[in-house]
Amino acid sequence: MRKILIVGAGQSGLHLALGLLKNGYDVTVVSNRTPDDIRDGRVMSSQAMFGTTLGHERALGLDHWPHCPPIDGIRFAVAGPDGGQAIGWAARLREPARSVDQRVKMPAWLAEVEELGGRVEIRDVTPADLETYAATHDLVLVAAGKGKIASLFERDAARSPYDAPQRALALTYVTGLAPRPEHSAVCFNVIPGVGEYFVFPALTVTGPCEIMVFEGVPGGPMDCWGEVRTPAEHLATSRSILETFLPWEAARCDGIELTDAMGTLTGRFAPTVRRPVALLPTGAPVLGVADVVTLNDPITGQGAGNAARCAAAYLQAILEHGDRPFDQAWMERTFERFWEQARHVTDWTNALLAPPPPHVLEILGAAGSLPEVASRFVNGFDDPTDFAEWFMDPDSARRYLAEVSS
Ligand SMILES: Cc1cc2nc3c(=O)[nH]c(=O)nc-3n(C[C@H](O)[C@H](O)[C@H](O)COP(=O)(O)OP(=O)(O)OC[C@H]3O[C@@H](n4cnc5c(N)ncnc54)[C@H](O)[C@@H]3O)c2cc1C
Repeated sequence: MRKILIVGAGQSGLHLALGLLKNGYDVTVVSNRTPDDIRDGRVMSSQAMFGTTLGHERALGLDHWPHCPPIDGIRFAVAGPDGGQAIGWAARLREPARSVDQRVKMPAWLAEVEELGGRVEIRDVTPADLETYAATHDLVLVAAGKGKIASLFERDAARSPYDAPQRALALTYVTGLAPRPEHSAVCFNVIPGVGEYFVFPALTVTGPCEIMVFEGVPGGPMDCWGEVRTPAEHLATSRSILETFLPWEAARCDGIELTDAMGTLTGRFAPTVRRPVALLPTGAPVLGVADVVTLNDPITGQGAGNAARCAAAYLQAILEHGDRPFDQAWMERTFERFWEQARHVTDWTNALLAPPPPHVLEILGAAGSLPEVASRFVNGFDDPTDFAEWFMDPDSARRYLAEVSS
């Protein structure tokens, strides 16, 4: 039986581990946190996932949270200079998105690894540990997310246009937020020059909730979390941002309360693509997974989906490879096959971090009167490869707009 070791018990590591176990592999997962540490710890993400990537989980029978509130569409708004909305429209997703708090999902998946006969080791893996693992396993995968160990993988400057964080991030998990009167949605708001705010239903450790996500342009008025010390201050800052910039969102927040004292997060990181293979001092190769090699800003809500795509692509490549050695060439090929999808997520996400070019403003404005444009944009969150066909390039965008307007 082929022996595979995975460092990291997050979205990609556990998805891949469970897929391999269900196909008869000998699997070890090494996590630097116990299931209780994860369950009782701080929130890590807003983890909204769209239809296709939820389908990857469903295909392996990993979708244990049918009671998670569905997200039926996306509402898009741009704040105008007068305190109103310069742009505002909504469209439905073809399949609902969902967000299951990783504090709920990962402990359940870790337990399932053990139920299926996999081993779970609790250890903060070091480069020296990787040498030991590589000597005793057929394949070692590093799925450690933003963990320090990711720096073993060299940054790919050609695929990483930014070398500094582009947003100051904050999450606020709340109950009591007034639902949209129409269908449920990710309510995505742009405050030009200041940042973005989005909010959507989710399932957390205490039950259904809404997750507020703040993306502040560094140095601007939404980059304001440095002095926040307590959960109550975090909630007050969240309210105050909405009262200042997005009164229509503030109006939904009269009854909000934090879900729990660990339901807040602040941070920032530079979006980074890394080389897929790290060579250890003995020359043994290890393969990077998901955020280790393709770390995107959360502005487009794609990281967890990207992790599921990566796990699905690597699983297929491992199964297809049979008994042949998992050498460096196979690792490079496996990543490049995944990158064919992932590069669209990265390109589009990086584009949305920059001030919008005129053709993007034209698309977002046209979507208000052309439901087909709104629907295509919204459903691109499920399949970002589509953006390359029309959104990313001014000529294609204008051709498409002319077609649908005629
Ligand atoms: C503020 C914010 C909002 C987000 N919102 C969304 C969203 O709405 N939708 C979306 O799709 N994505 C979102 N994401 C991104 C998404 O959560 C990640 O991209 C996704 O979880 C990455 O999966 P992963 O498996 O690569 O890493 P992770 O899920 O981060 O898992 C990595 C695991 O490895 C462990 N680890 C680290 N180092 C070591 C070590 N040395 N030894 C052992 N274990 C180790 C960590 O403890 C962790 O459990 C968001 C992220 C942030 C920060």
